[in-house]
Amino acid sequence: MAYDPNNIFAKILRGEIPCIKVFEDDFTLAFLDIMPQAQGHTLVIPKAAAENLFDLDPAMAAALIRTTQKVAKAVKKAVNAEGVMVAQLNGAAAGQSVFHVHFHIIPRQGGIDLNLHARDQVDKDELQVIAEKIKAALG
Ligand code: AMP
Repeated sequence: MAYDPNNIFAKILRGEIPCIKVFEDDFTLAFLDIMPQAQGHTLVIPKAAAENLFDLDPAMAAALIRTTQKVAKAVKKAVNAEGVMVAQLNGAAAGQSVFHVHFHIIPRQGGIDLNLHARDQVDKDELQVIAEKIKAALG
């Protein structure tokens, strides 16, 4: 399947729709998932037109994992998580629903199940409070 430049993350990158940003550099953007599977669920995307991991230039893949590591550390601190799950889905059969490659950073607390994937939208003000905590943890 060819990369669709009208996917929702491409629109976020072009500033056509808003996102709750926590971090940005020349190569990557990190923002909160609006249908979080846990409080603090954050997405990291490359500023490159790649549908999945296999389409991504290796240098961009390196930038993407660097940002993921940095932001995951801040997310863990911000929500005081016991653990952090990092996930990345390739293809509809793997559960991918937005076809612009991304890493999920999902904080975990022992004994607490995840919310369903891409199901329930959370209030933007509530997300903004968490975003401020993540930004503060990033320093
Ligand atoms: P995946 O199914 O791995 O492709 O993940 C896509 C993720 O994007 C899901 O967790 C959705 O909840 C999330 N999502 C969809 N639309 C938006 C949006 N406009 N802003 C932030 N997250 C979104």
